Amino acid sequence: MRDIACVVIGAGHAGLAMSRRLQEHGIDHVVLERGEVANSWKTERWDSLRLLTPNWQSRLPGYGYEGDDPDGFRTMPELIRFLDTYARIIDAPVQTQTRVTAVEPSDSGYRIQTDRGEWRCRAAVLATGACNIASVPACADGVPLSLKMLTAMEYRTPDQLVPGGVLVVGASATGVQLAQEIQLSGRSVTLCVGEHIRAPRLYRGKDTQWWMEATGLFDQRYDEVEDIARARSLPSMQLVGTPERSTLDLNALRSIGVKLVGRLAMIRDGRALFSGSLANQCALADLKMARLLDGFDAWAREHGKDDGLPPAERFPATEVDASPALELDLRRGEIRTILWATGYRPDYSWLKVPVLDRKGRMRHDGGVTPAPGLYVMGLQFLRRRKSAFIDGAADDSRDLAEHLVGYLGCTA
Ligand SMILES: Cc1cc2nc3c(=O)[nH]c(=O)nc-3n(C[C@H](O)[C@H](O)[C@H](O)COP(=O)(O)OP(=O)(O)OC[C@H]3O[C@@H](n4cnc5c(N)ncnc54)[C@H](O)[C@@H]3O)c2cc1C
Repeated sequence: MRDIACVVIGAGHAGLAMSRRLQEHGIDHVVLERGEVANSWKTERWDSLRLLTPNWQSRLPGYGYEGDDPDGFRTMPELIRFLDTYARIIDAPVQTQTRVTAVEPSDSGYRIQTDRGEWRCRAAVLATGACNIASVPACADGVPLSLKMLTAMEYRTPDQLVPGGVLVVGASATGVQLAQEIQLSGRSVTLCVGEHIRAPRLYRGKDTQWWMEATGLFDQRYDEVEDIARARSLPSMQLVGTPERSTLDLNALRSIGVKLVGRLAMIRDGRALFSGSLANQCALADLKMARLLDGFDAWAREHGKDDGLPPAERFPATEVDASPALELDLRRGEIRTILWATGYRPDYSWLKVPVLDRKGRMRHDGGVTPAPGLYVMGLQFLRRRKSAFIDGAADDSRDLAEHLVGYLGCTA
């Protein structure tokens, strides 16, 4: 059993940012990682993925983008290199290939069990990520055995799919990106569209992420928004990072032949049944996008930026068929694969501290859990709207490290 002031679990960008903050405060700590630094990016993402956040928007404590393409979007190898370099530069005390199997309360703090021995610490930071498990709806049980199913975490490239049609379920960032790639590979894609957030890649010559930051939306705090539960469960924006900086919305998908249907409601007797709300969902997303752009325009006006920017513009409404299909017989052979792009959730199966609610979600106040000395990072809207982005870790780790240092000081 080894004793240390603090154990950080997970060496993604969040765990590394926290490690850097703890170093700044002179707190003795270790970062335990089941794989290697940037493990999720190395093992759980598809091959063609690029970040949807521009290069400038990956600022970690003491480190940021140094290349000549700040508006570009990192490929996976580039991002992995970025995080590996960061871990090296900050000299993070990462112990790789060490899986945490249990975190439990002890007299002096927490006992951390791993497959390579035990640690005792006064404080612990869970930086294990928000996307450990692909969420798949229960109706997947009704999918006929003749179809292949896979999740976005298992998908790597279209070549891995059997020939034939693909039903992609979910139309947020992951779903629209994969629908496009698979359709362009020559397979016919049907996309199930529920609630989604539409956004242009560029607006008035600037990236949507630039506007989100400039207008203060990304810095909005968890204790400022009206309905934080709702804000934490919002789907990701339909964005893709490409060298062309192109917009990937449902109109773009339709133009390459992707068929749009409503939300997958259930699978009964081998038939997929879709909600009739496709037109409404699209109209709502169009309306919300217009409101977002109105907000951007108002900010530009109020801050005297109008003159330096191209004029305001609005985008065509999302086009949907007058009567989109409401069901699809999955036994007919038209669809051979179902790809679940229905979101992700964290895995806390190893956490033996009573800090989860009855739905298994972490209870916390901006990352401070109800268990003294136990912190969490990297969850959606943890402290700010940007919290789950790479760019959110610098501020969150600063705030939480300060709290942690105060806690250690009080209990010294
Ligand atoms: C498909 C996808 C695309 C994304 N694109 C962007 C983007 O463009 N821009 C952006 O800013 N954000 C993006 N994100 C969001 C976010 O930045 C990533 O999810 C990021 O990986 C989260 O970083 P993290 O450090 O919180 O968690 P992770 O990167 O998941 O790191 C957690 C680490 O904990 C380790 N771990 C987990 N359990 C244990 C255990 N029991 N014991 C020891 N170690 C453990 C894991 O191996 C992993 O290395 C994307 C997310 C996904 C899923």
